[in-house]
Amino acid sequence: MLEQEFPGASGAISPIRGGRQAAEQQIRKIDGKRYARSRDHLNGAVTGLSPYIRHGVLTLAEVRDAVFQSINNRDDGSKLINELGWRDFWQRMWQELGDHIDDDQEVFKTGHSASSYSRELPDDIRDGCTGLACMDGFREELVSTGWLHNHARMWMAAWLVHWRHVHWKAGADWFLEHLLDGDPASNHLSWQWIASTFSHKPYFFNRDNLERYSGGNFCKSCSSANHCPFDASYEQLETKLFAQRVPIRDVPARRQGHRSKSTARPNPSTQRF
Ligand SMILES: Cc1cc2nc3c(=O)[nH]c(=O)nc-3n(C[C@H](O)[C@H](O)[C@H](O)COP(=O)(O)OP(=O)(O)OC[C@H]3O[C@@H](n4cnc5c(N)ncnc54)[C@H](O)[C@@H]3O)c2cc1C
Repeated sequence: MLEQEFPGASGAISPIRGGRQAAEQQIRKIDGKRYARSRDHLNGAVTGLSPYIRHGVLTLAEVRDAVFQSINNRDDGSKLINELGWRDFWQRMWQELGDHIDDDQEVFKTGHSASSYSRELPDDIRDGCTGLACMDGFREELVSTGWLHNHARMWMAAWLVHWRHVHWKAGADWFLEHLLDGDPASNHLSWQWIASTFSHKPYFFNRDNLERYSGGNFCKSCSSANHCPFDASYEQLETKLFAQRVPIRDVPARRQGHRSKSTARPNPSTQRF
């Protein structure tokens, strides 16, 4: 049907099906207990509900009720309920910020100035030919399905901003071109959290972390495995990537009120790195 409606469109059709029926099938698969144990793994029991929530096919209240139905003990559902809370929080922040959601909410705490980050998405990233099996793989999933696991989003965003020195907004705009769940609230503010313009320090990761939560699948086939840019300790990466850490007490808030909210925010993933 989509092919008939848009005969000139290029690319494959996402395997994610729209509509209420597909959403109800998906919501029945929720397992709050398994989710809490496995959500950081790429093959973990995440719900895949974000496109339906984003387009109003499911309400957060419906998802919350389904989480409670999937568990015996209320505590088993707390991780997933917590994530629904972040969705709601980002939406409320967007209401407050309006179009300012496009702006850096605070200065970067990387020691680099905002103007030093490139505003253009490099071609090798857009085309998926960076030579890094993980990042090219995430890009392929993003453009062909319109969805990415939260951890993959975090790794990709951190790599773009901290390794490739691309401004978070260029990456965020590119994500929005493809994500079926894309919206400026969850997307832009998550990118800013990683970049450190909406958090007190930058998010970054290393190869051990990526291998662990991706089951090592990318590294096995990666042509860059012997010169992997992520293959280092956190201390080594911190020294390499960041010019200087800005002590939080010295960071001026761009607008009053924004900093206290962002710095109070814990990690959107259970894993810091
Ligand atoms: C760089 C980056 C960009 C992102 N952009 C978007 C976006 O445009 N739209 C979007 O909906 N989410 C975004 N997220 C948040 C999160 O990655 C997705 O909501 C989640 O991966 C969707 O998959 P799921 O439905 O299986 O989530 P699950 O883990 O099964 O969670 C269930 C629901 O809770 C909400 N949720 C879960 N994690 C988060 C989170 N960290 N922040 C906010 N809500 C969350 C979503 O509505 C999700 O559908 C982004 C995260 C990052 C790091």
